[in-house]
Amino acid sequence: MSIKSRFAPSPTGYLHIGGARTALFSWLYARKHGGTFVLRIEDTDLERSTPESVNAILEGMTWLGLEYDEGPFYQTHRFDRYKQVIQQLLDQGDAYFCYCSKDELEAMREEQMANKQKPRYDARCRGRTEPLEGVSPVIRFRNPTEGTVVVEDLIRGRVAFQNTELDDLIIARSDGTPTYNLTVVVDDADMGINYVIRGDDHLNNTPRQMNILKALGFEPPIYAHVPMILGGDGKRLSKRHGAVSVMQYRDEGYLPEAVLNYLVRLGWSHGDQELFSIDEMIELFQLENVNKAASTYNQDKLLWINHQYIMNSDPAHIAHHLSVHMGKLDIDPSVGPNIEEVIVAQREKAKTLVELADTCAFYYRDPSEYNAKTAKKAFVEAAIEPLTRARDGLLVLDDWRREPIHAVLEQVVTELEIGFGQIGMPVRLALTGGAPSPELDLTICLVGKDAATRRIDAAIEYIRSNS
Ligand code: GLU
Ligand code: ZN
Repeated sequence: MSIKSRFAPSPTGYLHIGGARTALFSWLYARKHGGTFVLRIEDTDLERSTPESVNAILEGMTWLGLEYDEGPFYQTHRFDRYKQVIQQLLDQGDAYFCYCSKDELEAMREEQMANKQKPRYDARCRGRTEPLEGVSPVIRFRNPTEGTVVVEDLIRGRVAFQNTELDDLIIARSDGTPTYNLTVVVDDADMGINYVIRGDDHLNNTPRQMNILKALGFEPPIYAHVPMILGGDGKRLSKRHGAVSVMQYRDEGYLPEAVLNYLVRLGWSHGDQELFSIDEMIELFQLENVNKAASTYNQDKLLWINHQYIMNSDPAHIAHHLSVHMGKLDIDPSVGPNIEEVIVAQREKAKTLVELADTCAFYYRDPSEYNAKTAKKAFVEAAIEPLTRARDGLLVLDDWRREPIHAVLEQVVTELEIGFGQIGMPVRLALTGGAPSPELDLTICLVGKDAATRRIDAAIEYIRSNS
């Protein structure tokens, strides 16, 4: 049997970390088994669904690289089909009109509470044969009143529900629009979904959905309910914990594969391995190894993983993702030093691409100011002579590589009988303005002859006018 899984978000907000993890698990499962991954937008809640949110979900999926084989399907395009199914359930006697008013339902609730009973719809409209004048009814599913519904969940194991615990849920609102539990069942069946991997906030809906499937003559899919993600304080993860929309992770300088690597480890493990390439995830991922217990979001861990990816990924790949952050600094890295070489020189200390862009910036633009503390020590009158000689030496250097550049500096040191620091410190400050930089000869080499000599001239000028 070919596996077909899906991600079925409701577009009522951005794609958040919990949704992205559900999507990832579902995607991994399909990829692992050479199956099909479907994206379905569950937008039947017309009041809460927005086009912005649909775009945010699509953008987030694309950035993460969770490409789908089918879809996006929109539930709002399928209203006719839901109507047809609701009619079928009515015709079969598996659904009925309920004319209860808000007040009536509220009174029912209060009475049950007063009797220490669980509040539930008492099915009083089941036997009604005549419509109630002037009332637009809802439609309820006639849930079986006896028996057990067993969910053989791949993560949670066997979970049994008594039908007596389930009341007759609404499948169509009074305006005729279908509700989630109906649409999800129709779509999963119509789209041939055989693996439903989703958040465990839906576990309690599952027996109801299985009952509807059964009434319609469909085979239920295999379910896997993924436990939720908690913040460090043990509460359900939210913005307060620093967990944000997937696209905000991009804006804050995370690599998509670092986010995926972090997500896959939220609730799933393979020994004590922390870093997984996408291919390894696909190979090793197993739903059966997903934790039953909730997992805890940890921003420091995410940052650590991101740093590992920045240090170890192909520089060309990093360059691709760095460009948006360079762009925000108004830098076009195609003009100036080779960005891949710059990345290799600078990446050790950068935990995010935002930090990396910041520390790479000086290669592409002359310093507009100097670190004051360093300038006080380095930009003194005694530095003018070494700076001048360094500039002259570099200007006539044809073989622009690290070793010859180093030789130029060494020669000045010998000629002037000074320590290396007396030339190294002012030259470095002249070139970088005080930004972190690698070995001096490498820094000079990457900055390039024109910019290096120009910046040394500017530093000499600066010292003259400040002393
Ligand atoms: N649309 C539902 C939600 O966003 C998910 C439905 C499902 O996965 O079955 O919570
Ligand atoms: Zn009723």
